[in-house]
Amino acid sequence: MINLLYLAAAICFILALKELSSADGARRGNFCGMAGMAAAVSAACVGQDTNVELGSILQTMAVGGAIGVSIAQVVAMKDLPQMIAGFHSLIGLAAALISFSVYWASRGGNLFWLLEIGVGSVIGIVTFSGSITAFLKLHCSCKECGVSNKVNFSLLLLVLLALFCFIRNGSEAAYVIAVFCSFILGGTLILPIGGGDMPVIVSMLNSLSGWAASGIGFTIHNELLIITGALVGASGTILSYIMCRSMNRSFRKVLFKPSCGKILQNVDTTTLGERKAIKRWAPEDAAFVLKNATSVIVVPGYGMATSQAQHALKEMGEALKKLNVRVRYAIHPVAGRMPGHMNVLLAEANVPYEDVFALEDINLDFPFCDVAYVIGANDVTNPAAKKDPTSPIYGMPIVDVERAKVVLFLKRSMGAGYAGIDNELFYSPNSMMLLGDAKETTAAIVKEL
Ligand code: NDP
Repeated sequence: MINLLYLAAAICFILALKELSSADGARRGNFCGMAGMAAAVSAACVGQDTNVELGSILQTMAVGGAIGVSIAQVVAMKDLPQMIAGFHSLIGLAAALISFSVYWASRGGNLFWLLEIGVGSVIGIVTFSGSITAFLKLHCSCKECGVSNKVNFSLLLLVLLALFCFIRNGSEAAYVIAVFCSFILGGTLILPIGGGDMPVIVSMLNSLSGWAASGIGFTIHNELLIITGALVGASGTILSYIMCRSMNRSFRKVLFKPSCGKILQNVDTTTLGERKAIKRWAPEDAAFVLKNATSVIVVPGYGMATSQAQHALKEMGEALKKLNVRVRYAIHPVAGRMPGHMNVLLAEANVPYEDVFALEDINLDFPFCDVAYVIGANDVTNPAAKKDPTSPIYGMPIVDVERAKVVLFLKRSMGAGYAGIDNELFYSPNSMMLLGDAKETTAAIVKEL
């Protein structure tokens, strides 16, 4: 019965992943995932062979569940990436703690047993400290970023050496050194990474947390945990690879050639661009140009998420469609602060899926578009990514808004985006700045339309 429940859960998880890969099926995917998790947890509770009482397991789950629900309810949409990084850290911690307890409960076993424990602990603890560092970085609390590759390579070497000694002769000292160095390594690996590469890191940590869970599965002989961890690990690895490819990066470059950490510290974003001339427009001017356009492409970014402008944007799209203007949405793979951030917000506002396009499917259309409506996006439109090899975002593909006839930039000031660099497009002849909160500006345009 328990094995059947585990099998059902594994099938549910696979179906969940399949459905989650399109916006259409995302809701069904979530239900499949929840059903699978319910089956898995019930089977684990019924089948547990320890002397822990079911009542105390349920009590612990209720406390954890209540904390999870309350965090999910209060977290602001813009803080979701930090929350995800924070939750990944818990998976790493759980994996490491289980490995520690299994090790200290029996303190010995064959070569494979030591390998499972050692690798499980190391992956778990790297995931834990790496995710905590990512959480702090995304929260902008970590400013000290310069860690050289030599430090990371030395730490990695130490971890491997200690792990080797542990697996060979089960030395407790080697185990403690491996765990301690892994803890430091998780932090030092993530600390120098900034700007354009942070999304890939969040995705890599997601994948690592899956492998950590799979490791626990081996340690405690739970097949479902092995399968589930492998699903998360493999899908996270594939997502990281896709993100790297769409940002023109490689895993090696992301991890060992960190770019923007220092720049973020040194740039005073409040004064950026103040010396150059910009053209400022009022919402009425923008409304006039928009209603006389034939084709408008909206480019949403992080500012749309912070101002929660998606509903006003949907209204604007509908008003323009009534005026026979073709409205489409261009989504950059790293717009916002987490993979799929913009898709989620547009779906929440019921923007039709068929109007939403991935970068590569719409970028060639900008020369034929009258207005590019850039709402709270900055880095993802910055031509420095193509032209300036010293730029922290160099090599990242960008949304080619500069090729549109008119570019409307909605932002509050001339401040920089996540990468902390100025955007030369703000000063180009066809760019108009609509300074103010994106939601308020868009609502004013809707009123005008
Ligand atoms: P950016 O961070 O480059 O720019 C956001 C812009 O929004 C800022 O220029 C800001 O300007 C403006 N803004 C902020 N609040 C408001 C508001 N209320 N109303 C109007 N404008 C506002 O965002 P992008 O989406 O262009 O780029 C994403 C960046 O984040 C990339 O560098 C990416 O690498 C990074 N990143 C992405 C992750 C992901 O998974 N997607 C994860 C982590 C990082 P102002 O202050 O003047 O208003």
